[in-house]
Amino acid sequence: MLSYEAARGKVIEVICARRCAPPPPTETIEFAEDPTKVLGRIVAEDVRADRNYPPFNRSTRDGFALRAADAAQAGAKLRLIGESRAGVAFGGMVEPGTCVQIMTGAAMPRGANSIVMNEHARTQGEYVVLDEAAREGAHFVLEGQETRVGESVIARGKRLSYAELAIAAQVGRSKLVVAKKPRVAILSTGDELVTVEQTPTKYQIRNSNNVSLAAQIALAGGEPVMLGTAPDNLEELRVRIGKALDADIVTITGGVSVGKYDLVEQVLREMGAEFYFDAVAIRPGKPAVFGFCQGKPVFGLPGNPVSTMVTFELFVVPGIELLSGHKPHPLALLKAKLAHPLNEKPPLAHFLPARVSWPEGEAVVEAIHWEGSGDIGSVVKGNCFLVVHEARQVYAAGEMVDILPRRGLF
Ligand code: AMP
Ligand code: MG
Repeated sequence: MLSYEAARGKVIEVICARRCAPPPPTETIEFAEDPTKVLGRIVAEDVRADRNYPPFNRSTRDGFALRAADAAQAGAKLRLIGESRAGVAFGGMVEPGTCVQIMTGAAMPRGANSIVMNEHARTQGEYVVLDEAAREGAHFVLEGQETRVGESVIARGKRLSYAELAIAAQVGRSKLVVAKKPRVAILSTGDELVTVEQTPTKYQIRNSNNVSLAAQIALAGGEPVMLGTAPDNLEELRVRIGKALDADIVTITGGVSVGKYDLVEQVLREMGAEFYFDAVAIRPGKPAVFGFCQGKPVFGLPGNPVSTMVTFELFVVPGIELLSGHKPHPLALLKAKLAHPLNEKPPLAHFLPARVSWPEGEAVVEAIHWEGSGDIGSVVKGNCFLVVHEARQVYAAGEMVDILPRRGLF
């Protein structure tokens, strides 16, 4: 059985080999009116600087621009000859013995090579007296020092968050070429399932996996395609899986274990699927399946709700990212200090519902009591999963452990 790292690596390797060339289809989005239209999308072009940044030697303080040699010691007294403010530069020249009042964001006047902050200066009539020596180059950024004209400011394949949108705006871009969102089909299976609007009888349960998956798909940058619930029968599964294969990626929950009514793998196989794994050494989520069927990546996720959540995060997210032109990357685990000892059963890796907090500034994680992979409430009480690696089952309180933050919460 593959470890979760190997299984994730397999997903990345197979999707890259089969689907990453040519690059994904793109669309151009105009977002001047509503920047949130491109928020979270993967940029499909190199965005370049339209000019040098800063475009002029820019002050970073409110103070006085001067020649450093004129104020080599504290106590210098310079004649004030004008001002430079953001948007309106001083037209003249700073000659020896003079200075110009300057605001944050304003252009350095010609002749000046230093700024002394307001806090170290006081005006005396038409003079300014400095209580600090000036330092050449202090408190301004040279033209082009942040970015040169033509330089890439957002690399192709990067996800657009607020800083990326800010730099796009800075370089004059209100339209960007982004990858189309991969369409991710969600098919739930199980005779016991009813929809959220229906009233379940005693032994029925409401379908919650289609809801959590839609949210996880959206958070990962995909477009969920809701395909409802299929009963555990071969004919109906064939029809529904056939429909799901119109999407770019297929997720199917339930029916992938080894029970009598677990028919998903069989139907996929009949439809020509090739499987790369059908079990992973993790809990929850051991029966997770990954294959390709008719050219589309297909993920069979175990139906227990927490298993669905965890296996989606580990295996489906990289698929969605790769099909959006995002570069493959390792699982983003963080470290936290374990609040209590742990002793989990070997030989599986565990992803335990857990809560990370920062009581004294340092990340501390505690596992949440749970009744296994059907217990959605335990995930809701927490904000991350605590990773117990397969090679290490016993941990002492105070050890540093890995956590997988819950997407969208941090
Ligand atoms: P399965 O993977 O089909 O063996 O299902 C395992 C457990 O998950 C069973 O208790 C199912 O009732 C439950 N389950 C399966 N699918 C869903 C779903 N879509 N929403 C909520 N629970 C589910
Ligand atoms: Mg089932």
